[in-house]
Amino acid sequence: MKTLVTGGAGFIGSHLVDYLMRRGDEVTVLDDLSTGRVSNIAHQLFDSRFTFREGSILDARLVDSLIAQTDRVFHLAAAVGVKIIVEHPLSSLRTNIHGTENVLTACTGSGVPLLLASTSEVYGKNESDGLTEESDRILGSALTSRWSYAAAKGIDESFAHAYYTEFGLNVSIVRLFNTVGPRQTGRYGMVVPNLVGQAVSGEPLTVFGDGQQTRCFSAVGDIVPALVALLESESAIGQAVNLGGAHEISILDLAARSIEVTGSASGIELVPYSEAYAAGYEDMRRRVPDNSKAAALIGFVPRTGIDQIIRLVAESLRTAGSLEGE
Ligand code: UDP
Repeated sequence: MKTLVTGGAGFIGSHLVDYLMRRGDEVTVLDDLSTGRVSNIAHQLFDSRFTFREGSILDARLVDSLIAQTDRVFHLAAAVGVKIIVEHPLSSLRTNIHGTENVLTACTGSGVPLLLASTSEVYGKNESDGLTEESDRILGSALTSRWSYAAAKGIDESFAHAYYTEFGLNVSIVRLFNTVGPRQTGRYGMVVPNLVGQAVSGEPLTVFGDGQQTRCFSAVGDIVPALVALLESESAIGQAVNLGGAHEISILDLAARSIEVTGSASGIELVPYSEAYAAGYEDMRRRVPDNSKAAALIGFVPRTGIDQIIRLVAESLRTAGSLEGE
């Protein structure tokens, strides 16, 4: 099986690559290394079943030629991370809209099945209990940069659905809710590598706002097999499926768990949003997935709890020798 992973040098993409290589696929990665890192895939570079192409999904010719030679595509390449989105809204919009349309067009032209990585952000400002496809999608203002990511990913989903209904594209959409684990960098604002990194290095843990905002973190090790199962599931074609963690936790509690689990002597520092982010940031107070569709389609059950996630992230930071984000 020849598999193309766009964004395969990134955090989730590189774990997906490892999983596919273990299963015997021939894997090609397309990544522009904007946030992805060669170190994430360095251990695969000398395997004859693995190919790395540095390039952008905005390069339609390159995308066409790679997709013409592949059996299936996991499309994970995107401008991600709240910090990048609010600091570079224009290039993020271009990559996330035009780049994804290039991938969809090429897959349609070559008849190649595709999994489109989308995001819980598409639910927008909806903070209700158990978000599902049927939930109201509450659009954030176009004048608040944070929501440009949600807008772009929402357009991607609409494009994917249009290619599915008009041209029969074999596409499944997965909405990821705060996937975390080793190799995720804190550089672009993600909270788990930030807080665990601070705990491991003895710095104060920076909790933004009052810390009462909540998330349901899911371990990349639980998510990656589910991505493959969804692409391989006939029943998921044309569907949008949530994948997230099972337990809701406040960011303040996450900081406390990070200190406890790593045995850190660090304290917690509450930082006002205005000091933490560029203008154009607005936080979500709460985001809770309903995973029942993934459970029904592929038997998805998130198994890794937050303490175990913190242990894995702390371990990877320690063995890396230097902290990610530096
Ligand atoms: N956050 C925090 N400290 C940090 C980084 C993030 O308190 O060092 C907060 C952030 O403001 C948000 C939550 O943690 O409330 C999750 O942030 P992240 O960017 O990881 O995910 P998202 O907001 O996209 O769910």
